[in-house]
Amino acid sequence: MLHSNKMKTLKRNAVRILTSVWLSFAASSIAGESGSVGAHDALSRLLNGDKRFVAGKSEEPQGAALIERRHELAKDQKPFAVILSCSDSRVPPELVFDVTLGDIFVVRTAGEVVDEIVVGSIEYAIEHLGTHLIVVLGHQRCGAVSAAVSGAKETGDIPDILKAILPAVEETKGQSGDRIDNAVRANARDIAKRLQSTGPIITPRVQSCEVKIVAAYYSLDTGQIELLK
Ligand SMILES: [Zn+2]
Repeated sequence: MLHSNKMKTLKRNAVRILTSVWLSFAASSIAGESGSVGAHDALSRLLNGDKRFVAGKSEEPQGAALIERRHELAKDQKPFAVILSCSDSRVPPELVFDVTLGDIFVVRTAGEVVDEIVVGSIEYAIEHLGTHLIVVLGHQRCGAVSAAVSGAKETGDIPDILKAILPAVEETKGQSGDRIDNAVRANARDIAKRLQSTGPIITPRVQSCEVKIVAAYYSLDTGQIELLK
């Protein structure tokens, strides 16, 4: 009899433990599904990451912690920001913003120029991954912008890139200051502006403030990110 009561108690305790484990698992799953990061928090996170990068105090996981992160993300992703940046090897967004696997959805082209495929890629992140922030990142001494400014004669498909940058070059002609730097900034601003009116996924969300698009400038000299107004 005593034995049977003991068994019942053990079973009840086992059920309680299993129930609480399941509930906490369910709660964390729900938080993961609905816990997308708002645009304001996403931007703060990126800018804080850049501050750590500038100071040489990057914190993102390495070694075993990175392997663990990889396992966590194997079946799902929930990036908190889209970064559209130049392909330049000196501007890797994950390093610059001190973020890790699964944090940012990155699209890169020379001069961060946009075509339908780029827009579609960004739309995918907004529509299916629940991302609320898009950062268009230009950078100091951008080779693509420099070539567009100097009117370089290129072959292959490179002229298509320069053509996409030309409006920013025209817009900044005659301005005081560095011609390339002015065009880099105008190019990032123009692209951010253009993304605001790119159709059924991005435009309504920008209008309802659900999605924010910002243009930014990266300094090769300092590692600093500057938001462009
Ligand atoms: Zn560049």
